Amino acid sequence: MIEVYNTLTGSKERFVPAEPGRVRVYVCGPTTYNYIHLGNARTFVIFDTVRRYLEYCGFKVVFIQNFTDVDDKIIKRAAEENTTPHALAQKYTRAYYEDADGLNVLRADVYPRVSEHIAEIIGLIETLVAGGFAYAAGGDVYFSVRRYPDYGKLSGRSPDEMLSGARVEPGENKRDPLDFALWKAAKPGEPKWPSPWGEGRPGWHIECSAMALKYLGADFDFHGGGADLIFPHHENEIAQSEAATGKTFARYWLHNGFITVRQEKMSKSIGNVFLVREVLERYPASAVRLFLLGTHYRSPLDYAPEYLEAAVRGAERLSNCFGLLTEAIAKAASGGEGGDIFTDSLSSLEADFRAAMDDDFNSARALACYFDLVREVNTAVHAVSPPPKKVLEQAMELFSAFNRVLGIFPEKEGKPLIMKAAGGDDFTGRLLELIIAVRQEARIRKDWAVADQIREGLKEIGIVLEDTVEGVRWKKV
Ligand SMILES: [Zn+2]
Repeated sequence: MIEVYNTLTGSKERFVPAEPGRVRVYVCGPTTYNYIHLGNARTFVIFDTVRRYLEYCGFKVVFIQNFTDVDDKIIKRAAEENTTPHALAQKYTRAYYEDADGLNVLRADVYPRVSEHIAEIIGLIETLVAGGFAYAAGGDVYFSVRRYPDYGKLSGRSPDEMLSGARVEPGENKRDPLDFALWKAAKPGEPKWPSPWGEGRPGWHIECSAMALKYLGADFDFHGGGADLIFPHHENEIAQSEAATGKTFARYWLHNGFITVRQEKMSKSIGNVFLVREVLERYPASAVRLFLLGTHYRSPLDYAPEYLEAAVRGAERLSNCFGLLTEAIAKAASGGEGGDIFTDSLSSLEADFRAAMDDDFNSARALACYFDLVREVNTAVHAVSPPPKKVLEQAMELFSAFNRVLGIFPEKEGKPLIMKAAGGDDFTGRLLELIIAVRQEARIRKDWAVADQIREGLKEIGIVLEDTVEGVRWKKV
């Protein structure tokens, strides 16, 4: 039984999908005006892990994540980069895919873009105007917050409280400072589309409502995003969507916490914004995911290079365990008895892992189970009488299942890659690649004498081979 903390009710609730066996998820995607940073990556990796776990539990997941490719920030940045908003958005959309793929984030079922859903957005605004929830004024259209009595139910703020922070900016035609724009009249040089209210472009909030309703319908299961989106973005999404449809918009609202850098907020003005691509140049994706999942998603997560160094060592422990297990399975004779205690501990580890993820997707506790598995495997493989092959294979299945949920390593089962090794010059690297390839061939022939001779011979001259999920690596010791 999965329990989730629902921002809407402020409590942990049992998760029951609206339709049996099928879970519909919407996550607010990036505004494509820049490369994504570690804070953005946290959201994407968290909800990727939620999706992976739901699939592990046997649900069919429909996962939608949008690209906000029409936005003030894009227009401003395009002017700075001397390009068009469209070309700029294209560039950073491509960059998003590179970064998310680099982090082993599974692809969404659909990545709707605002620029391709203007008709749906206009349709939704027309419904709101017809229902008396929105009004046109001077080429703009605004949502009338006071007409929607539940406004504030997600963020827990009352309209009167919100009034203190609300303003009418110059050039806006609002009747009430609380109202927000659904449609903005065209300004010179900005992207624009024809509409019943004249040429213009949609406001940010209505975009997500229109795209979520199009691909998921009303009353879908999970709506996710960073905690900074609770107000006003998600509050406004609820107001627009529920006013227009008369139905619940999303049933469970999940929000992840911020990333701080040495306890400071990540911000451009301080200069401590870490882009995903910069981090991935320095650290393997496996370590970055371990770091991001090592803290419960609702808690703040503090970044410092030493935490990623620790995650690198964690990833190495996992890949060493994989190599050890691979070798033990290859060497173990078929048949044989025993290993019952090991089988029992595998079952209880799997139960613990599930209990952790069932408890509001507690990836930190799930990771602890993964490292417990590493310890169990090390002990079992090095025991006087190691478990029989079929039990070792069970351990490997569990190792792979944990990895599939947490997405630490890409899955390339049965096909180890020979990685470019770190250290050494190009000649040494190529020579070692050749030697590793010869050893791999020996292993495939089950010629353990030659394989071991190569490993031992290299060890004598200070080169250690490691079998990892990503292939065989070597290092100088
Ligand atoms: Zn959104």
